[in-house]
Amino acid sequence: MKLSIKDLCFGYNGSLALEDIALDVSEGQIVSLVGPNGAGKSTLLKCIDRILKPNRGSVLVDGRDLARMSGKEISRSMGYVPQSTAEVFPYTVFDIVMMGRRPHIGWRVTQRDISVVAETLRFMGIERFSSRYFDELSGGEKQKIAMARALAQEPKILLLDEPTSNLDILHQLELMKTIERLVRERGISAVMAMHDLNLASRFSHRVVMLKDRMIHEIGPPKEVLTQKNINFVYGVRAEVLVGCDGRPYIIPLEAV
Ligand code: ADP
Repeated sequence: MKLSIKDLCFGYNGSLALEDIALDVSEGQIVSLVGPNGAGKSTLLKCIDRILKPNRGSVLVDGRDLARMSGKEISRSMGYVPQSTAEVFPYTVFDIVMMGRRPHIGWRVTQRDISVVAETLRFMGIERFSSRYFDELSGGEKQKIAMARALAQEPKILLLDEPTSNLDILHQLELMKTIERLVRERGISAVMAMHDLNLASRFSHRVVMLKDRMIHEIGPPKEVLTQKNINFVYGVRAEVLVGCDGRPYIIPLEAV
């Protein structure tokens, strides 16, 4: 499934948060949105998922404008994993992941819905939490469950808002590897807001660097994550080393 964003603008109560955003994401690609706090990364993900309605421009999935699709249709093509999940009711993990089936469920839950949920829990390595209550889990475990819920929708495009922010380095790596596997084995595309430039570099096909509501640069990690761009966009002098995989890795040195 191909995602195309054309000339997208969005404002919160008249104050512009995104301006002239244009981006194409093809099937099986991992695209990271990077940029300083307030640059517009979360807002862009929400506009793609139509949680927020753009003031101008369009989001197309395989050429179809999302503005003309029903909520159910959108949820069958896109899964959104928010930054933090504040579930206040004591649902079990199984129930939370089953909520992801909502766009598919007709009158009642079918055997297929149950199998998809069980398979998703297995894929994410969280079957053992199945009957645990969500609000009793750690931040990292909750993050995996939020992703499992989005996957249970069987989306073609996964939108993730800082998926690694609550995780230690082992769980960061596991989560990024899971995203890589999804992309490789199921042809899903992933668009993620990322603070960690080194994880973005290691796992992304392309990086979109945002500054002040606009795209500053798009391209492969080694073209975007340069000393010059980091200096300009973040106001940080950084050393950029080339890893054994040929990708740039960043050591922030000082504010400029
Ligand atoms: P990022 O994810 O890059 O940190 P955001 O998309 O959260 O940036 O924010 C972009 C801009 O929109 C910021 O100036 C922020 O203050 C503003 N903003 C975000 N959410 C809201 C909101 N609900 N109401 C008003 N302004 C908001």
